[in-house]
Amino acid sequence: MLMDNNQKAVVIIGGAVAGSEAAFQFAEKGYYTIIIEKNAMPYGKIEDGLPKWHVKLRNREINRINDKLNHPLVTYIPNTELGKNLSIEEVINWNVDAVVLANGAWQDRPLPIEGIENFVNDGVIYQNDFIYWFNHQHEPDYKGPVYQTKNNTIIIGGGLASIDCAKATMFYLVNKALNNKGINSNLFEMEHGINKVLDKHNLTIDDLDIEPCTIYYRKRCIDMPLTPQEIDSPEALEKAQRTRLKIIEHNKTKYLFKVRERAAPVAPIVENGLLKGMLFNNTFVDDNTYHKIENDTFEVRCPQIISSIGSLPVPLPGLTMDGSVYQFEDEATCRLKGFEQVYALGNAVTGRGNINQSLKHATAISQLIIDELANQAPRNTSVKQVEDQVRQLQQRVAYNGDYSAWINQHMPVRLEDMIEH
Ligand SMILES: Cc1cc2nc3c(=O)[nH]c(=O)nc-3n(C[C@H](O)[C@H](O)[C@H](O)COP(=O)(O)OP(=O)(O)OC[C@H]3O[C@@H](n4cnc5c(N)ncnc54)[C@H](O)[C@@H]3O)c2cc1C
Repeated sequence: MLMDNNQKAVVIIGGAVAGSEAAFQFAEKGYYTIIIEKNAMPYGKIEDGLPKWHVKLRNREINRINDKLNHPLVTYIPNTELGKNLSIEEVINWNVDAVVLANGAWQDRPLPIEGIENFVNDGVIYQNDFIYWFNHQHEPDYKGPVYQTKNNTIIIGGGLASIDCAKATMFYLVNKALNNKGINSNLFEMEHGINKVLDKHNLTIDDLDIEPCTIYYRKRCIDMPLTPQEIDSPEALEKAQRTRLKIIEHNKTKYLFKVRERAAPVAPIVENGLLKGMLFNNTFVDDNTYHKIENDTFEVRCPQIISSIGSLPVPLPGLTMDGSVYQFEDEATCRLKGFEQVYALGNAVTGRGNINQSLKHATAISQLIIDELANQAPRNTSVKQVEDQVRQLQQRVAYNGDYSAWINQHMPVRLEDMIEH
């Protein structure tokens, strides 16, 4: 749809849970709404983060995103990365009423261990890369990095994503070991419990000749960030601690991985230039802070380490950050420091890996922005300039404006369909 002369306009960077929700909110208020998305598909961590065994949840979220982006006032530009294919300055120069970053958190928090950077993808894998590979490697035309799951892998972390890394590792190891015994299973069967699959075949984990992976967490299991609830009283804390313990025990029983609490990684074990494991320091926890116990270290030898200690927004040229997070001029509307009309929302701001939190944040912030802009005169946006830019960007990636046709053409093949057939 073309833009009207007096129509307000917004550019949203990223079209996933947060970006599509913001797009819907703006479009419903009559904004000419442009989504600039780095990938062909706009699903973000629904496609590349949420592990592929969550078939129903993934499909539900994808449908929700499609419904929102199919709004007649939303214009989609795929395969276009801010910071690479165009700069934030260029977008600002379009002089639209708002530029909204809904670009998520795609940079793994670096493992704070001296020398570890020498082993990235050579002994150390970061969670976002690992799960991306895990989710897509069954696709016949997959061309991304290839990883292997190995016995006795160390997983450093303690959140839900570290449990997903442990599950993914165990699924591969167990499936391979079962195949070696002539038994067929698959991810979806094992998601109901590796213990159940083994019971069905009268096997135990010891019969499989595999070494499970272990999650190493620097605090206690009861401190793991596994529960979203706000802690505002000793009773709430106690309840959260009980729930966290339950979650971790439930997952250990079902998926047979191990957990070692109160263990902070301190140094890589390197021999002949190769990563051979990790030195850990035992810790104690006091007032929700962990402390290393002096002279109390232990070595763990392993062939592979997966780091799952959180994700941060990728720094974009032209935007100042406060350490690893965006700096705001106005905290309420998440308007970025140094800009009159650039805002951020969703996982890029919340830092929480949770669909509902991204969604709620996107709804709340876009409504605040819309309210703020309602009191301002429309910018002197050049309709022709914006339309020309949009057309050029769409032509560059051979997108003809038919969102549904594009989605159908680019939807990846699903593992569940490959197994069924
Ligand atoms: C392993 C794992 C398991 C998870 N499990 C769950 C779960 O069980 N339940 C749950 O609620 N949540 C889960 N989550 C979290 C949830 O998937 C995310 O929090 C949520 O999907 C984030 O949505 P978002 O739109 O804020 O960000 P994203 O999904 O990250 O979307 C950002 C979008 O911006 C695009 N983009 C990024 N940079 C640029 C750029 N420079 N230019 C243009 N476009 C750009 C991206 O391609 C993407 O489409 C999980 C996450 C992971 C990693």
